[in-house]
Amino acid sequence: MKIGFIGLGNMGGPMAANLAKAGHEVTGFDMADVSIEGVQMAASGPEAAAGADAVITMLPNGAILRLVAAEVIPAMAKGAALIDCSTVDVDSARAVAEQAADAGLMFVDAPVSGGIGGAAGGTLTFMAGGSAEAFAAAEPLFGIMGQKAVHCGEAGAGQAAKICNNMILGVTMIATCEAFALADKLGLDRQKMFDVVSTSSGYSWSMNAYCPAPGVGPQSPADNSYQPGFAAELMLKDLGLSQQAAASADADTPMGELAMALYKKFVEEEGGKGMDFSAMLPRFEKRGREG
Ligand code: NAD
Repeated sequence: MKIGFIGLGNMGGPMAANLAKAGHEVTGFDMADVSIEGVQMAASGPEAAAGADAVITMLPNGAILRLVAAEVIPAMAKGAALIDCSTVDVDSARAVAEQAADAGLMFVDAPVSGGIGGAAGGTLTFMAGGSAEAFAAAEPLFGIMGQKAVHCGEAGAGQAAKICNNMILGVTMIATCEAFALADKLGLDRQKMFDVVSTSSGYSWSMNAYCPAPGVGPQSPADNSYQPGFAAELMLKDLGLSQQAAASADADTPMGELAMALYKKFVEEEGGKGMDFSAMLPRFEKRGREG
């Protein structure tokens, strides 16, 4: 297939490289001066999109996606597929889906889980929203860039699934970290805490697969001085999107709201920027009830 790929950063770069490695003809564009193995670089987004069977975007946020889509959609051939893999707000995903439909294009919102390692290894999980026809067109590409793709429903459903998942993740990571900090103060050995919780009803992905305590459980960013991994500011972004969605859908999400407030403070005032999101554990460790 002829593929245009716009946004070749930490995630988009290796995803585009994997498509090229699989034999697709990939033309890329990024505002920054980047070069990606096997990818021919274009001078603009519309140039990368012209004549492509599919255009993939992997951009920082919904405002940038809207700007890029407004430029790129008119350059795309009728019947081609626009596949947005960025994590953006549900409203932006739906607005771009509508513009694409008006231009006779297929659209899929397909945010990913799996991080930079998953992008490089081609093991991402895609959660996709769009018509059955659009999903079918995108699925072979998901199969190259990832190991699993779930068709979640109509346009916007992929973003909805992503932010609900990450709201659970933010809340459970905080709960896991505060419980470890309490266990420390109660004199409980961290390894014993892990041995019990990871096999009891407190288990979760945060505890079992990504344990925030160094030297305990499987290898995780905690074992690498909390270098990300999944940066605290990206978690803050996703919690912000979930709160934005909750406000527009009138959903009551008090735990998500508190998790967002804690990550906001951590990132903006407590040195958490650039740290992995599991660095909430040393944050709690240092504190007493009064902060
Ligand atoms: P990144 O900042 O490394 O990459 C974004 C790229 O977009 C940059 O190279 C930037 O130059 C480019 N860009 C910005 N504006 C542009 C424009 N107008 N035209 C063309 N290119 C433009 O970010 P990333 O880590 O690759 O993340 C991309 C998306 O994936 C985000 O929405 C993020 O939330 C999501 N995501 C990231 C991770 C992760 O672990 N990094 C995991 C899951 C999802």
